[in-house]
Amino acid sequence: MVPTEARTSEARDRGAASGGVLVTSRVQVGVRVFALEDGERSAVSKEWFRTRLDHANRLFDAIGVEFVVASWQPLRVASAAVDTRAQRDDLGAATTHQGLVDVYLVSRLTDVDAPPTEIRGVHWRLRRNTSQRWVIMSAISGPMVLAHELGHFFSLPHGVEAASIMNKRPRNTPPWEERVFTRREQTAMVAALKRMLDSGRLVPRKTR
Ligand SMILES: [Zn+2]
Repeated sequence: MVPTEARTSEARDRGAASGGVLVTSRVQVGVRVFALEDGERSAVSKEWFRTRLDHANRLFDAIGVEFVVASWQPLRVASAAVDTRAQRDDLGAATTHQGLVDVYLVSRLTDVDAPPTEIRGVHWRLRRNTSQRWVIMSAISGPMVLAHELGHFFSLPHGVEAASIMNKRPRNTPPWEERVFTRREQTAMVAALKRMLDSGRLVPRKTR
């Protein structure tokens, strides 16, 4: 069920300022992070993840969603180099992905369609049960990749609008830090959020 509490005027103003669609509630979504322990080869730091989560939160503010780290879970070193579809499956196959978003931070993520090219992130569905899905981020991923993959998690395909963070076409304008979810994309994400809350796929941590 979608929370119906009205947004504060401050939150409403913030949403309007960022070009947000009309949202009537705010939702905190938990993120469970699977990462190598500090000191392990190619480990990324919590600060590294925080900058990416902050950028995602700036963009998702337009639809009233805030991601918060629910927990850090250890990732086995043997799982950290992800080159094949089977390895992408193996990352999350033993876990039930329900209530929150699971993000795996790996040292290497290979383009399974064009190895050995590396990619920066992917929204992945377990092949034998595609309702089970998660985000995989490589250590080479830049500050906008998490927001882009979370866009996929919220149902978005790749976009064509220049302003869209979902548009992968190389371009100089707008610069990456000004790319956003467009109004059209925000509308689709609000609908996806409602579906995920109604089904229990996402369970809000708290609303305000
Ligand atoms: Zn993509």
